[in-house]
Amino acid sequence: MKTLKEKSVKGRVGVLPRESDVKAKPRIPKDMLRDGVGLPELSEVDVVRHYTNLSSLNYGVDTGFYPLGSCTMKYNPKVNEDTARLEGFRDLHPLQPSETCQGALQVMHDLEHMLCEITGMEAFTLQPSAGAHGELTGTMLMKAWFKDKGEERARIIVPDSSHGTNPATAAYLGYEVTVIKSDERGDLDLKDLNEHMTEDVAGLMLTNPNTLGLFDENICEITEIVHEKGGLVYYDGANMNAIMGKARPGDMGYDIVHLNLHKTFSTPHGGGGPGSGPVGVKKDLEPFLPVPRIVKDRGGYGLVNSSSKSIGRVKAFHGSFGVILRAYAYIKALGGRGLKDASEQAVLNANYLMKRLREHYDLPFDRTCMHEFVLSGRRQAHENKVHTLDIAKRLLDYGVHAPTIYFPLIVEEAMMIEPTETEGKVSLDEFADIMERIAAECVETPELVTGAPQKTPVKRLDDALAARKPVLNWNMSRDRP
Ligand SMILES: *Cc1c(COP(=O)(O)O)cnc(C)c1O
Repeated sequence: MKTLKEKSVKGRVGVLPRESDVKAKPRIPKDMLRDGVGLPELSEVDVVRHYTNLSSLNYGVDTGFYPLGSCTMKYNPKVNEDTARLEGFRDLHPLQPSETCQGALQVMHDLEHMLCEITGMEAFTLQPSAGAHGELTGTMLMKAWFKDKGEERARIIVPDSSHGTNPATAAYLGYEVTVIKSDERGDLDLKDLNEHMTEDVAGLMLTNPNTLGLFDENICEITEIVHEKGGLVYYDGANMNAIMGKARPGDMGYDIVHLNLHKTFSTPHGGGGPGSGPVGVKKDLEPFLPVPRIVKDRGGYGLVNSSSKSIGRVKAFHGSFGVILRAYAYIKALGGRGLKDASEQAVLNANYLMKRLREHYDLPFDRTCMHEFVLSGRRQAHENKVHTLDIAKRLLDYGVHAPTIYFPLIVEEAMMIEPTETEGKVSLDEFADIMERIAAECVETPELVTGAPQKTPVKRLDDALAARKPVLNWNMSRDRP
């Protein structure tokens, strides 16, 4: 597809302005004149077609299967979009007096309570704007909690399967990061944890089910080990989609959780739009939560700004209100039974796909999985010299989005597949058929896979070069390699 500048034809215009009846000659600097700026010259229909065709190249959940592990790319019902756009919500100003936005405050207040119910925590803040921001907030809460007790702890423990945001958050706040091994079943290695869990550790950050898609069977023992040494346990709730209505981090012994509303509770994501990463805590930690807190008394809903122990604000106003509204609408529409159904369906779908694909790719952790599973392309890499990256690119030729690849780091040539509950058997089978075909290609015609993609608008990109020498201007691109 050509760029607008390549389509430009000298002298072609989109609109014909009327002749000016002003006699004086305009004094416009030369480099601001049409020729000086070098804008493309096109007719209206040229431009409309260009952008309409570009828009149809987008790939999203609304156009096809999106098995991007860890990201929960489920279909988001459109009714939640309508809710987020209701005039009464949309036209509010965040600085409006509380008396004039009781409905919005009630939505936030009720959502906090619903999230407490879902996670088994006792208080929530809706301020953080993504999972990583929730981690930052939660770890700041940990720090404040220890400071209040007159303690200073230097380390935070994460498993070797953890998402990069976990150690990054801990390091950002000045903690030394200790990495604990996973055992041969993919659970946290208890012996390793026992060895490293000392009174110098502020806490453990652990997602469950973990990034291998496995529910850690020893979770209650793990939280006990950490608590015995006075530490706190942080729940990275990115994988909550597997256990809604089935199990609660609060009951497993976790002290702090974040949820990714944009993943689990129905907000389209992946295009760089706003997210939301509410943080929930047990009672002891509530005084440290960010302000303002939303409170309800006989006079209605209001805001409390003062709390001597609060870590302060972590976001302007009340967080990503549109995402909060979608989550509220989604939870209300599904109800407790519906949320449980969603998780059960997500887990069933993942296990079905895992069973279909395990014959064609290696399955390093051979256990019932939760909402996602991790395959390894090591057989293809060693025997056919075809790597997971090639397989991911080949999927694009078949018109499917690739799974998450090379994560978690502990699986060689990892492919992390999360089908979500909103896919039916037909699309799961289609995906499995394609993956099967690619596995056969790796043996019979490996050059087809290593040369992929061939059918996409742009072929294989040099991502290292793109990162090191990004071409940001079309004119410059001519002089670039
Ligand atoms: C997505 C994810 C995060 C980070 O969440 P963001 O909302 O992208 O900031 C953290 N941990 C895990 C396991 C995740 O999948």
